[in-house]
Amino acid sequence: MKEYNPKKIEEKWQKKWEKENTFKAVDPPASGSKKPKYYILVEFPYPSGDGLHVGHPRSYVGLDILARKKRKEGFNVLFPMGWDSFGLPTENYAIKTGIHPVVATKENIEVFKDQEKKLGLSFDWDREINTTDPSYYKWTQWIFIQLFKKGLAYKAKMPINWCTSCKIGLANEEVVNDVCERCGSKVVEKEKEQWMLKITEYADRLLKDLDKVDYPERVKAGQKEWIGRSEGAEIEFKIQDSDNSVLVFTTRSETIFGCTYLVLSPGHPLAKDVNPKTRAINPVNNKKIPVFVADYVLTEYGTGAIMAVPGHDQRDLDFAKEHSLPVIEVVKKDVLVDSGNFTGMKSEKAREEIIEWLSKKGRAKKTINYKLRDWIFSRQRYWGEPIPMVNCKKCGWLPVPEKDLPVELPKIKDYKPGKEGESALAKAKSWIGVDCPKCGFRAKRETDVMPNWAGSNWYFLRYCDPNNKKKLADPKKLEYWMPVDWYNGGMEHTTLHLLYSRFIFKFLWDIGVIPKPIGSEPYKKRTSHGMILGEGGIKMSKSKGNVINPNKIVEEYGADVLRVYEMFMGPFEQTIPWDVKGLKGAQRFLKKVWRLKDRVGNEIGDGRDLEKTVHQTIKKVTEDIESLKFNTAISSLMVLVNEMEKQKEISMNYYSVLLILLNPFAPHTTEELWEELCDDGLCWNSEWPKYNPKLVKEEKVSLIIQVNGKVRDKIETDIGLSEVKTKKIALSSDKMIKYIKGNKIKNIIFVKDRLINFVI
Ligand SMILES: [Zn+2]
Ligand SMILES: [Zn+2]
Repeated sequence: MKEYNPKKIEEKWQKKWEKENTFKAVDPPASGSKKPKYYILVEFPYPSGDGLHVGHPRSYVGLDILARKKRKEGFNVLFPMGWDSFGLPTENYAIKTGIHPVVATKENIEVFKDQEKKLGLSFDWDREINTTDPSYYKWTQWIFIQLFKKGLAYKAKMPINWCTSCKIGLANEEVVNDVCERCGSKVVEKEKEQWMLKITEYADRLLKDLDKVDYPERVKAGQKEWIGRSEGAEIEFKIQDSDNSVLVFTTRSETIFGCTYLVLSPGHPLAKDVNPKTRAINPVNNKKIPVFVADYVLTEYGTGAIMAVPGHDQRDLDFAKEHSLPVIEVVKKDVLVDSGNFTGMKSEKAREEIIEWLSKKGRAKKTINYKLRDWIFSRQRYWGEPIPMVNCKKCGWLPVPEKDLPVELPKIKDYKPGKEGESALAKAKSWIGVDCPKCGFRAKRETDVMPNWAGSNWYFLRYCDPNNKKKLADPKKLEYWMPVDWYNGGMEHTTLHLLYSRFIFKFLWDIGVIPKPIGSEPYKKRTSHGMILGEGGIKMSKSKGNVINPNKIVEEYGADVLRVYEMFMGPFEQTIPWDVKGLKGAQRFLKKVWRLKDRVGNEIGDGRDLEKTVHQTIKKVTEDIESLKFNTAISSLMVLVNEMEKQKEISMNYYSVLLILLNPFAPHTTEELWEELCDDGLCWNSEWPKYNPKLVKEEKVSLIIQVNGKVRDKIETDIGLSEVKTKKIALSSDKMIKYIKGNKIKNIIFVKDRLINFVI
């Protein structure tokens, strides 16, 4: 092929990969292979009707590059893909169009899959999973039943967040500033019987085990903040002229002498009895203080009541100013003041002693408090996994016998929730009636379905054994593939999806579904990619008309150009705007690589400079891929290509190194060139090259010259110069002659290859 024709090349190789199942991950023990495993996971997408957008490939291509490199390094790589396909958009689409969600989902998946294949992603398509497939959600339901059996799933009447438009109960995290995260409508509180999962029982382990994993610090911080563990005390404040008392939770009991009022949350049982005359008694000094109700105190945090210390808390201070309440300072420079017998004590010590003193009087106790709440696991919708529970008037709630799983979603015509917000399933009368699994009398099925987290909590386990009919996954396969070595996904999923899936994993580990040697953490390493914005840095959206369809780019420029561009556009974890100029730059680069093939000869006529550049590039690309620095890896490949362009003739040896290094980024182009020029094998499984450490050393260094600690000059010198030689060179520079002029050098500070400082 003379001209670079990406379309033809890409179609050819994609067909071949599909036909030959090139990127199949081999299960043990049948493989008999001694290759070490490597499990790379990207978050599986929600197959919406809009198709893939250019943000998806960023994560997929990035981790595809890693997968392709690992294969070359001799790993048995598992890099799977699937569909997280239950959820609201498809249901809303069904309500609008009457097209059954099963049909719409199938169509959407086909579009997504075709788009992903056109990007040349090396997924093992044999392991494709779909959360809406009954053979998959059978196990999602099975997990729920195990949770129920262990007392970790229970039904409770809960004030839930109710979206007035979606007509659905929302989890706390789906409510942002009192409006629904999905639709922006008002959220109100509503009492509803809900299935709850007792994630709080795992709070401490979810916190402690963060020490075992390699997550970015800000991700760990996000998990910790969500769990919100704080050590403190519950202190009892009696109410004047009443038998009632209020328990407050505080982490700063040393400030109690500065407490000038109490605040109850609106949901507190005593809130309705509070009036302007209500007075509480501070147990440390018997001072009478007013009581308020305000929504800056949360019902579900701590005891739903706080002791307000405006001298030491900003929100209390704001409130105190607004209501002209006294502000007393009781801690100065970490020592207590105006605090009775505790005056003069260090605050940390006082914190303990005040609790102890009040405990003896029966007015306080030490407690640990968590922000984490049990997890509301019911949704009053249609397009979700049916909760596999039966309610019998005589026997209560019972799980559906495991042999009867999956409980399939019944086919209905009207997917709208009922007026009171009950699930559309409540209308499927013939489906609801069922014999009680215990007493045999007529009973009713649960009509709520699971939230969209349910299927994504454990999907990475199913990839290890996607077709198993008897078990969630074969323990032997789990033991081989798990834990996930590297998991990449959006920053927006680093709190809850990670927390929930870690919880479910720990639970499955506890009950022996996950073999013990794997450990109780599912993901060894987690990274996140940045978003792609529209041109000019505006968020892409349909309404703004600036959404870029990756298929159009592939059609016009080719998948390899798109891949190289998206990896070169900026640091992987940063949010970056789309830029057509950059796309054209990536195209020019691949065309250059293509044209270089005409200079490949058998001569070993490359100069020493090229040899050095080749080895430096190997080092750079090898290390940069491992730290997801794809942009700088591509820069170094560009440097190499520019160097090669200066040569009359390039050896096959060096050119093939370039192809192997570039192969993970531009797999089609490099495979085509390999086929044309190299005698043996294929590029994708050619061994990753090694660099010669001697050749990658820089021979020149940039040396800083200082006078009295101030930088006065920078010079290039040979590496490894002695102090004497460095001094000689430094003092001969024109600038230094000017600075030193006539002054006596009192001292010299010398750091080899880095700096020389003259003290004058
Ligand atoms: Zn809503
Ligand atoms: Zn019964």
